[in-house]
Amino acid sequence: MNHGADTIAAIATGAGAAGVGAVRVSGPLVPAIAASMLGREPRPRHAHFAAFRDGAGELIDRGILLYFPGPASYTGEHVLELQGHGSAVLLDALLRRCISLGARLARPGEFTERAFLNGKLDLAQAEAVADVVSATSEAGARAALRSMEGVFSARVDDLLGELIALRVHIEAAIDFPEEEIDFLADPVIGEQLAALRTHLDELLVETRRGVRLNDGIAVAIVGRPNAGKSSLLNALAGSDRAIVTDIAGTTRDVLREAITLDGVTLELADTAGLRESDDVVEREGIRRARAQLERCDVAILVTDEAHAAVDVAFFEGTPSHAARIVVVNKIDLGSSPAHDESADGVAKLWLSALTGEGLDALRGLLRTLATAGAGEGAFSARRRHVVALEIVHEHLTRTATALHDSHAGELAAEELRQAQQALGEITGTYSSDDLLGAIFSSFCIGK
Ligand code: GDP
Ligand code: ZN
Repeated sequence: MNHGADTIAAIATGAGAAGVGAVRVSGPLVPAIAASMLGREPRPRHAHFAAFRDGAGELIDRGILLYFPGPASYTGEHVLELQGHGSAVLLDALLRRCISLGARLARPGEFTERAFLNGKLDLAQAEAVADVVSATSEAGARAALRSMEGVFSARVDDLLGELIALRVHIEAAIDFPEEEIDFLADPVIGEQLAALRTHLDELLVETRRGVRLNDGIAVAIVGRPNAGKSSLLNALAGSDRAIVTDIAGTTRDVLREAITLDGVTLELADTAGLRESDDVVEREGIRRARAQLERCDVAILVTDEAHAAVDVAFFEGTPSHAARIVVVNKIDLGSSPAHDESADGVAKLWLSALTGEGLDALRGLLRTLATAGAGEGAFSARRRHVVALEIVHEHLTRTATALHDSHAGELAAEELRQAQQALGEITGTYSSDDLLGAIFSSFCIGK
């Protein structure tokens, strides 16, 4: 990629009328463009009040011109910011003027991509820039800001440091085959690995929470056919999207609905009854339901008084870190009033998806689960980061096996090498062009 070879420009502020709007320019032509716009050499990092004119000398707008010479700028290149009135027409004219002076239109995320490529921020920080911009809750925005400042990256780098230290230790041992067994039996190696695994587990917990703060929580609704899963989803979502019928097995696919509770997003999925089926379409639904179940943060079992005890089998397949809620539905049919209980870490609520009685208690519980641990120091993260840490986890488990069971230094070293690679992908130490393309293309233009 020949980044830095050309100069890019984009409107950096949101669409629609606003008090102030800005055009951002980055690249080698910036000093020349800035001088043309101002009519003289701009002073670095100084707010100039300027008359922005088009090629014919016609006034486009009056506003503020800011010039940041590279490398002390957002992208690491020369950067120009032109602030004018937040009118789409004027900003377009300002942008056209920059293009006529030699800049080209920036792709989505291209400014931040250049900042990454020029080492101004790492990949996890760059992703957090987009997450700050798109945050829908205050807790989410704060967490994304911490990741943008490097709080998450620093944790990853600490772990990387520990991992490399252990790798060096083991690589040194296998360089001396005649003494390898003794080296590998050194209790220090075992202690280093144990500490590393503990720190990884801690980081995984916090990173999963970071994803919840960023994306909201994934909620899977499970239970036998006709328990009222679709009705509950609709009641929570306040719409009629899921198909509700009296025929068992109507929900043939995973139905998703994103709802917002106090700015926290809940991604709800109604799963088809997880049971044997000869129907192809239904089997596909069941397969997807299982996949949804395996990655949920919260599993809600919908059941009734009679089946509550046996139906807990539906929780099978939910991750061990997921919260579990038993909903005893259809209380409007019986005499049990809405209330809640919890035992063994499983919350139990009585409600009616049909009348809405008891639904607020469930909403409150979901809200609490979604924002749990969102306080001091919480950072945002993405699913990609969790997946990378899970891969590191697998490699460290195999490293331990190699060391303890067979004293296989070469194997352990190879596992650690792969663990280091997976960890490095989070901050972009190792990254493919495909990954970068996927990340930056999801940005908005001007960032
Ligand atoms: P699913 O198969 O688990 O998704 O169940 P549905 O949501 O499709 O509901 C099955 C049937 O139970 C429908 O006829 C619903 O109207 C009914 N139902 C769901 N929740 C309640 C409830 O709280 N009270 C009553 N009386 N009926 C309900
Ligand atoms: Zn259903």
